[in-house]
Amino acid sequence: MEGASIYVKKKVGIIGAGLGGLTSAILLANAGFDVHLYEKNTHLGGKMMRYQLGDTHFDFGPNTITMPYVFQQVIKQTRANPDDYFQIIKLDVHTRNVFSDGSTFDMSTNIDEMKSQLAQKDPQAAETFSVYLQEITRLYQLSEAHFFPKTFSNWKDYFSPKLASALRKVRPLESLDHFHRRFFKHEHHVQMLNRYATYIGSSPFMAPATFAMIAYLELIEGVYYVKGGNPTIAEGLTKRAIELGVKIHRGMEVKKLHVQKQSIKRIECENGEQKDVDLIVMNGDLLQVFPELVDERFRPSFRNAKISRFEPSTSAFVILASLNKHMKQLIHHQVYFSEAYKEEFEALFKEKQYAKDPTIYICNSSYTDPSVSPQGDNLFILVNAPALTPESVIDEEAYKQLIYQKLAEKGLDIRPSIIAEKIIRPKDISKQFYAYRGSLYGPSSNKARDAFLRPTNQAKDLHNLYFVGGSTHPGGGSPMVTLSGINVANLIINASFTK
Ligand SMILES: Cc1cc2nc3c(=O)[nH]c(=O)nc-3n(C[C@H](O)[C@H](O)[C@H](O)COP(=O)(O)OP(=O)(O)OC[C@H]3O[C@@H](n4cnc5c(N)ncnc54)[C@H](O)[C@@H]3O)c2cc1C
Repeated sequence: MEGASIYVKKKVGIIGAGLGGLTSAILLANAGFDVHLYEKNTHLGGKMMRYQLGDTHFDFGPNTITMPYVFQQVIKQTRANPDDYFQIIKLDVHTRNVFSDGSTFDMSTNIDEMKSQLAQKDPQAAETFSVYLQEITRLYQLSEAHFFPKTFSNWKDYFSPKLASALRKVRPLESLDHFHRRFFKHEHHVQMLNRYATYIGSSPFMAPATFAMIAYLELIEGVYYVKGGNPTIAEGLTKRAIELGVKIHRGMEVKKLHVQKQSIKRIECENGEQKDVDLIVMNGDLLQVFPELVDERFRPSFRNAKISRFEPSTSAFVILASLNKHMKQLIHHQVYFSEAYKEEFEALFKEKQYAKDPTIYICNSSYTDPSVSPQGDNLFILVNAPALTPESVIDEEAYKQLIYQKLAEKGLDIRPSIIAEKIIRPKDISKQFYAYRGSLYGPSSNKARDAFLRPTNQAKDLHNLYFVGGSTHPGGGSPMVTLSGINVANLIINASFTK
């Protein structure tokens, strides 16, 4: 499908250079389309972004990388070698869980190590772990076969008997918390596995058990890091896009899409420039960007009133802290758990408030890669935040101090060692990426409907408009949005071949 001349004149406008947009740009350019990629920011990669404080480097956005083969596939599909663009390495011990009693549990793909740690708190858990691994493998394999490769373009896709049968088998109606309690009795074991719901910005007490497949990814396949920082993936994809002739318009916001006869004819940019297009791939958050760019009368199936029916995934309160030393307690990833885990999710989703006793995630990539932070640790500290509402306001300085105090109480007092710090709030995330209400992963997956019936990858009312990214299928998180870019590009390429 490379460079086929029948595509040469087809002009594709891609709005947004997140991982989804970059991926579809590469694959469409590789197939011979004339691709123009518009990104309002000056960096490409969207939420996968570098941040610099003095000479300390941070990865903003995806700190935990799973499914490395998805990113590699994008490069491979263009007959290049992924290692020439980014090098992905596996972490031996990936996440240290720290509980309120001070005990710890180090997660890895070493099953014996996992069992021996489980046995310390509950001898039976070590036995049930094997059964658990079998069940999460089954959930993953079903999702991989039936959900990941699919583009949902119209209602018929949802009603295929094969899909319905697969859906019944992935425990869509059982909560993740209920599922975990069938295997594990100790609260700490349930808590550390329940946290996987937050990888899709959701609550383990509501999200379907299907998402235990994320545990499969971490516990069977492992967690990865990209040499030089995870944004190297976005930089590698950008390099490949340029090599394949994608015309990149950085710092250029698309302001309007002009519609004629149920088809988008022209893109209008912030500088007033207009460009004719044959196809559009929208990577900007569908819930926010689609309604802003397309007049409501042209999208009767996606009226403004429909948008408020989607519950956004969580946002984040992030502190980037550069330290003048290495803290001996820290590895690459760690989680300091709240004592009131259920209340934390009630605060986030029911009360739309910040948790009083939040779970605190810390990424310290300098543990694996000292080159990114020559002076000491580079701490990316993330606490789940409610999606933006008028009520979800906090005193940021006080909340930062609360986080530092909680960490100090758990044996990690970083306050004397901080040399530079920066707070990134939900409203910053919303503004920088046009993320709907500051959400990290598109709509939440708290309800089976929102988990499995996300907005489709092709617009229902406009025949040449496609969607990629976290708010569409297969969902949020860096490998999933990349898959959406692959799926949509392949859909467009195949449709053009058959015409
Ligand atoms: C703090 C944080 C932590 C995260 N942690 C992880 C993690 O550990 N692991 C993981 O896998 N994922 C993680 N994620 C989620 C992951 O970053 C996202 O799912 C993924 O990067 C989103 O990619 P996307 O393709 O949907 O596009 P986005 O990254 O959302 O990019 C969309 C782009 O479109 C641009 N745009 C929007 N409107 C316009 C317009 N009108 N004109 C031009 N450009 C426009 C925006 O500027 C943006 O750059 C995290 C995200 C955040 C914010």
